[in-house]
Amino acid sequence: MTQKKVDDDELVALFPGEPITHDNAEHYRGRLRRELLVNRCDNCGSWHQPPKPICPECWSTSITPTPVDGAGAIFMAIFLHQGPLADGVDYSTPYPVVTVDLTSQPGIRFTSTVVGSPNEDITIGAPVVLDWITRGAVPFPVFRLATKDQAL
Ligand SMILES: [Zn+2]
Repeated sequence: MTQKKVDDDELVALFPGEPITHDNAEHYRGRLRRELLVNRCDNCGSWHQPPKPICPECWSTSITPTPVDGAGAIFMAIFLHQGPLADGVDYSTPYPVVTVDLTSQPGIRFTSTVVGSPNEDITIGAPVVLDWITRGAVPFPVFRLATKDQAL
């Protein structure tokens, strides 16, 4: 992507069907740069997700969408046999959906899929790293099971 800031109309056009709001627009702009963003309070330093305009801890309105590495451990996994049609989604396998506890942001979880591994290897507690695929025409954050070196 270019350095030019994507305006709101362009952003909505790039993510058709996504619920883009004033509160999460920067997070979608981050996805275009392959950056996973989580809101962090400038006043007390707490992280919160999903993005809100006010810190739930101290009520500060000074919030910064901040890049995170996305590494963590699988907290919950479900396997969908049916669902809405989506680019690159195959329910016949079935399609894994995981919620991951982010290691560097305690208490923050992020939900996506796991790529590159058979479903039987996707287990609770398994360490994962963030990766990016292209879905539609835009980057989409996904997880991969961590290798032994990454999990240390
Ligand atoms: Zn705060």
